Amino acid sequence: MSTATTQTADLIERNSKNMIPVYGRTDIVFVQGAGCVLHDAEGRRVLDFFSSILCTNLGHCHPAVTAAITHQAAKLVHVSNLHHSEPQARLAELLVAHSFAEKIFLCNSGAEANEAAIKLARRRGNASGGRFEILTTLGSFHGRTMATIAATGQEKIRVGYEPNLQGFRYVPFGDLDAMRAAVGPTTGAILVEPIQGEGGVIVPPADYLPGLRELCDDEDLLLIFDEIQTGCGRTGTLFAYESMHAVPDVMTLAKGIANGLPAGALCVGPRAAEAFDQGSHGSTFGGNCVTNAAAVATLEILLDGATLPRARLAAQRLRAGLEALAKRHPKLVTEVRGRGLLLGMQLEGADTARAIAERALAAGLLINVTGQGVLRIAPPLIISDKEIDEGLDLLEGAFPP
Ligand code: PLP
Repeated sequence: MSTATTQTADLIERNSKNMIPVYGRTDIVFVQGAGCVLHDAEGRRVLDFFSSILCTNLGHCHPAVTAAITHQAAKLVHVSNLHHSEPQARLAELLVAHSFAEKIFLCNSGAEANEAAIKLARRRGNASGGRFEILTTLGSFHGRTMATIAATGQEKIRVGYEPNLQGFRYVPFGDLDAMRAAVGPTTGAILVEPIQGEGGVIVPPADYLPGLRELCDDEDLLLIFDEIQTGCGRTGTLFAYESMHAVPDVMTLAKGIANGLPAGALCVGPRAAEAFDQGSHGSTFGGNCVTNAAAVATLEILLDGATLPRARLAAQRLRAGLEALAKRHPKLVTEVRGRGLLLGMQLEGADTARAIAERALAAGLLINVTGQGVLRIAPPLIISDKEIDEGLDLLEGAFPP
């Protein structure tokens, strides 16, 4: 056994011995990353078409983000929210300037951003006569805390944690009539992902989000978009709502916001900007100086006028390649869908998808399987044409003959 292999085996053994086994993992130990490429402890090169679960949208160790992190880490790592700090002021300013939002709350993860959105919706709803209920959608994913599993429309995520938090009902995704029919006297908000990510990269019909907007206006409900996966350039615009013809009242962000550092944000528009006041919510590390310096650097790149247009071109090339691949394998692939660089390839059967992802990884391409037999393909937004073509070749090579 080579030294590298021994190191990998040793690390996996130590991890397995000491960590609670909540994750199903491969036996790969990644030790380095640059752009769209990861290297494992064996020195193997892996092309990353998954962006570390859609977090490293600008690629691994983007030099400008790394410079912002190191600069801030040498200056001031953390200061409590009982004082003001510069990186969070700049981040909130950027988010307000480039979205519908008037006010921002900063936190550390997607679940925490959604927790904040749920609390905000409850507070506003309760203040207007017990309208505490939040309608969410079947197949959705909103996080792993007690409130966010209650919001998540997948029973397998909630089971074993009963009693679940009350006040959520689940409606089929993409079905406007069902949502309209579900609104009752205690409903105060609707929470949806503009495109369901974990549920299998499901894009709703074009009139769905505008219809939800109209419904929320008619019934005075808060429209909350969970853009934790779709935000930060992933679908070709800074936020998915910009190209989906519906502006929410509340938006949650995390994942790509700090290009791999743990940060999240609750972005609130005029209809709910006053729902929280002093003492109604908080987070020790929310708005941390280093993570927020990384987020500022990330957003500045996403807003530079070149990164997003290039990502849209990359998305066109990748999608065209996936569609051509689907045509060559009509018995295996039933659909290619998604938007921007959040793409899904629906296969016949979950086992086929898993087998393809495993063979792809063995050949040096990292993709993910989600939903029922869907390959989720989401490379960094900075991916080159050459890397796209290489990834497509590796993917096709992993298909059964
Ligand atoms: N919401 C969506 C749409 C997500 O995709 C995720 C994570 O996959 C979350 C919320 C939860 O985010 P986190 O894992 O950062 O808590």
